[in-house]
Amino acid sequence: MLSLQNEILEAIATGVPFARAADILCRRVEEMVPDALCSILLVENGRLQPLAGPSLPKHMTAAIQGSPIGPTAGSCGTAAFRRAEVAVVDIEADPLWADYKQLALPVGIFACWSTPIFGKDGGVIATFAFYYRARRSPTAFERSIVRTCAQLCGIGIEHERVQARHHRLAFFDQLTDLPNRRSFDRTIAERLSLADPSFGLLLVDIDHLKAINDTMGHVVGDRFINEVANRLAQVELAQAAFRLSGDEFAVFIDPCPDHQWLQVAAAAILSRMKAPFECDGSMIVPQVTIGGVVSGEDGDDAGVLRQNADFALYHAKATRRGGYVPFRHDLRTALTHRITSIRSVDSALREGRTVMHYQPLVRLDSGEIIGTEALVRLRDAEGAILAAGEFQAAFTDPNIAHRLTRRMLTQVAQDVRRWLDAGIPMQRVGINVSPVDFMRGDLGSSIRSAFGALDVPLRHIVLEVTEAVFMDGTSADVLRAIKELREQGMLIALDDFGTGFASLTHLLTFPVDVLKIDRSFVDRLLTDRPSAAIVESMIDIGRKLDMRIVAEGIECEAQAQRLRDLGCQLGQGYHYARPADATTTTRLLAAFAQRQPVDHLPRQSHPVPLRA
Ligand code: GH3
Ligand code: MG
Repeated sequence: MLSLQNEILEAIATGVPFARAADILCRRVEEMVPDALCSILLVENGRLQPLAGPSLPKHMTAAIQGSPIGPTAGSCGTAAFRRAEVAVVDIEADPLWADYKQLALPVGIFACWSTPIFGKDGGVIATFAFYYRARRSPTAFERSIVRTCAQLCGIGIEHERVQARHHRLAFFDQLTDLPNRRSFDRTIAERLSLADPSFGLLLVDIDHLKAINDTMGHVVGDRFINEVANRLAQVELAQAAFRLSGDEFAVFIDPCPDHQWLQVAAAAILSRMKAPFECDGSMIVPQVTIGGVVSGEDGDDAGVLRQNADFALYHAKATRRGGYVPFRHDLRTALTHRITSIRSVDSALREGRTVMHYQPLVRLDSGEIIGTEALVRLRDAEGAILAAGEFQAAFTDPNIAHRLTRRMLTQVAQDVRRWLDAGIPMQRVGINVSPVDFMRGDLGSSIRSAFGALDVPLRHIVLEVTEAVFMDGTSADVLRAIKELREQGMLIALDDFGTGFASLTHLLTFPVDVLKIDRSFVDRLLTDRPSAAIVESMIDIGRKLDMRIVAEGIECEAQAQRLRDLGCQLGQGYHYARPADATTTTRLLAAFAQRQPVDHLPRQSHPVPLRA
């Protein structure tokens, strides 16, 4: 018995799965008690699970699997239920075996003695049983064997449970129950070592989780993460989902022959996110952004694949929030460019090298200036002025965009104050703001503090937004902030109208005062009938919804004339004036600005091109 004890303890200590050690234990005990068959059953959630029973007929093991413990559940089920040994001397006659005797009697099993095994917390974790080929009760020798075996089983099962708990903690995320980054690293390494066809990897990051945490609290944030995790785990094409970090997940699509397949999988994830779920009394629709790679095509080691998927995700966050971007090799170049741009804007902001230029907005009938659009420029180290196109890539960085907007607000407020002080007829100045500015939730207070500090009334401001603001989701807080600003006289202009995906219904839900027709339509106005038709409809929509229409990018008199004919009253473009610095703009305003009250639009007269 001592050598058996040592053998089992050594097996446990060296990490042999306990099912195997239990099997050895049963066999050895059967050698010592030749007319008995041994079984060890686990007790989990009130049900029996065979762990070892090498000599027990298969049909008996199968019948035991998952059977509930109870007051009349054979010897083992009853022993576990009573928390005490049960010796059934005659299976045929004993009511405890009434439901099970047909399994035992035909194979020559006539008696059964089962002993419960207790865990550290006092609960029954298993049973150890002898099935006898005779109608008899256990001997004193057998009792001493079972005492030792029960002890060994207790140690082995508890040890395995602790191991399993440690494994769970090491390889699974506690919040979502998904496998974690460590599991991901292991899985991708194992998968790459197989010669199988390629697989796909999607990186999924929740959009604006910080804002959710900030506005609704971390508990809601956690539930949000959990909801997304559950949905990812259920995507049909996905083989496994992992939580890599805070709000970033990886999904294996395996096998995945090509990017087309991966696109379908990404679309399945995005569509699964569309259903709203209830959280803390509000309905929330989770939004995620996805980047993806296909092994082989986009890299064949774990590091490269992960990095390229990151590039794709990064690019998606910047250009297609709430959507999917597959990796392309040129994304690396785009990213390098973006990082360089971010650095240069960051240093310009720190060194005070941002400059405001203004492009006049004119009445197409008289050519008088009725406003300007503020456009940010950077002065480089040599003093040259860089146009926005050269550092546009940086605008998609939330931090840069936010800082730039605040700087613009301050500089524009100063310029407007100077114009007002100098008695220059100053109507409105347009300021471009990004979706990020809205998400931060402090746009209203930034505007009020920048303009309020210099006592510049908000009726001099037009906030220019793009459709991305709608597409990215506008919270009730944002709408409230805008409403307040509008009540103080500020207008909202929708920039680049007609180029994006926003539907016209957005015009009904988002308060828009001015529609700016994108330059691409004006460009083709004279040559392309559909463009002309679209412009005409936009002007019509604007008129019917009582919005002002501004045509952008007017470069010649013929375009201006056509726009006038279509009923468009306002425009901007090189035909009238290029963007210029504050000094030049001051001269232009002094000479050409409409000297009427703000937003006054009288009858037609003749346009006059401006000269700086
Ligand atoms: P983006 O739309 O660009 O993805 O921005 P984001 O606000 O989602 O922020 P980002 O992905 O850059 O960073 C993840 C944020 O998620 C940071 C942290 O505030 C939050 N977060 C990370 N882990 C947890 C978590 O376990 N619970 C909760 N509630 N929030 C978390
Ligand atoms: Mg995120």
